[in-house]
Amino acid sequence: MKTQVAIIGAGPAGMMLAHMLKRAGIDCLVLERRDRAYVEGRVRAGVLEQTTVSILENLGLADRLKREGLPHDGFSISCDGKQFRIDLAGLTSGSRVTVYGQQEVMKDLFDAAPARGLDVVFDAENVALHDIDSSSPSVSWTKDGRSHRVACAFIAGCDGYHGVSRAAIPATVISEHEKAYPFGWLGILAEVPPCSHELIYASHERGFALASMRSQSRSRYYIQVGLDEDIEAWPDDRVWDELAARLGPDADAHMKRGPSFEKSVAPLRSYVCEPMRYGRLFLAGDAAHIVPPTGAKGLNLASSDVLFLAEALITHNKTGSTSALDEYSQRALARVWKAERFSWWFTHLTHRFPTSTSLERKLQIAEMDYLAGSVAARTALAENYVGLPLAGELHHRPR
Ligand SMILES: Cc1cc2nc3c(=O)[nH]c(=O)nc-3n(C[C@H](O)[C@H](O)[C@H](O)COP(=O)(O)OP(=O)(O)OC[C@H]3O[C@@H](n4cnc5c(N)ncnc54)[C@H](O)[C@@H]3O)c2cc1C
Repeated sequence: MKTQVAIIGAGPAGMMLAHMLKRAGIDCLVLERRDRAYVEGRVRAGVLEQTTVSILENLGLADRLKREGLPHDGFSISCDGKQFRIDLAGLTSGSRVTVYGQQEVMKDLFDAAPARGLDVVFDAENVALHDIDSSSPSVSWTKDGRSHRVACAFIAGCDGYHGVSRAAIPATVISEHEKAYPFGWLGILAEVPPCSHELIYASHERGFALASMRSQSRSRYYIQVGLDEDIEAWPDDRVWDELAARLGPDADAHMKRGPSFEKSVAPLRSYVCEPMRYGRLFLAGDAAHIVPPTGAKGLNLASSDVLFLAEALITHNKTGSTSALDEYSQRALARVWKAERFSWWFTHLTHRFPTSTSLERKLQIAEMDYLAGSVAARTALAENYVGLPLAGELHHRPR
């Protein structure tokens, strides 16, 4: 078997890249360890930057997103129960985010694949990369007990944090930067209307909470919990009571309670591997970097990575020049590090750390007070939240 680009992983990064390459006439094959239902069913990201929406629009994959996605022009921050608003659109000359679940994005990417002749091999076991530092790499896997191998010109490692691609790079040629946070997020999904038409990020003496949503009738809530928290110790009533305490009286007054149909604890991590390339292997998305979900950046970074990578591969395909491929890692990392910084900062501002002293809590409260009173501070938050430009300067002039 032969293909131009072997893509490992059919998450958002792998599937968006496959659509981009296929549209440009570049042959590719996607290898995914799990089945479609598993990948599509994972409850994860929910907030899309305009850049991600534009990528899906350009791929002709945004019809349902435009119908069902919820554009948000702002969000609220609650500090010990008192709320103020971040006017995203007003502070960034009209930029906004769209609430549309990762499950829906995956459904749209998968649904369109067969008609576009896009090959995805699900249930590919034992995926292994070969000769990635040579001019003729290949990828092997097994499926239904049979061995397969595809020769390719390039490999895109889009297989997430625990995938095989990054592990195939010799440890001596990459630098890894990492921080594991001493807490996790307990998330629930419930078939109840959201308590607010915009998201509420809460910093409270008892810990962080987030009121989010997936639609007008489906709510997504999170609370900060200990890393070793037993989920059995969190029956729904306890979760709702804790949300009410942390989000504050305004949110509580409008909070509709109901049975959760999904409940899980996710750890929080900041991680970057650099460079994002070794030989003919290019890493993209969570395979190369992880952000804590506070800034809603993970899926959005995966989208911008593969946009840069697709542009470089298309340029190489048209002209034979490798300069865009050579610049890929640097170009992607410039955006990645800014999103890492923002996610780290927003996490520190809103969460209680087990080692926090009363001084650190007072400093958080002072920073919240500063944000509430300073247009400059709110503008800095807003322009990072809606997503920094793909290249160059910010074009808007804050009001
Ligand atoms: C609780 C939670 C909330 C989040 N909230 C947000 C948010 O609000 N906004 C946001 O932007 N991001 C958010 N994220 C992050 C976002 O979900 C990820 O950043 C995004 O899924 C990254 O996409 P990816 O394609 O790079 O990796 P993944 O989605 O991890 O996809 C990688 C794929 O590779 C496959 N794979 C792994 N190993 C192999 C192998 N050996 N062989 C073949 N295939 C393999 C996996 O099965 C998977 O399908 C959140 C994440 C979590 C956990």
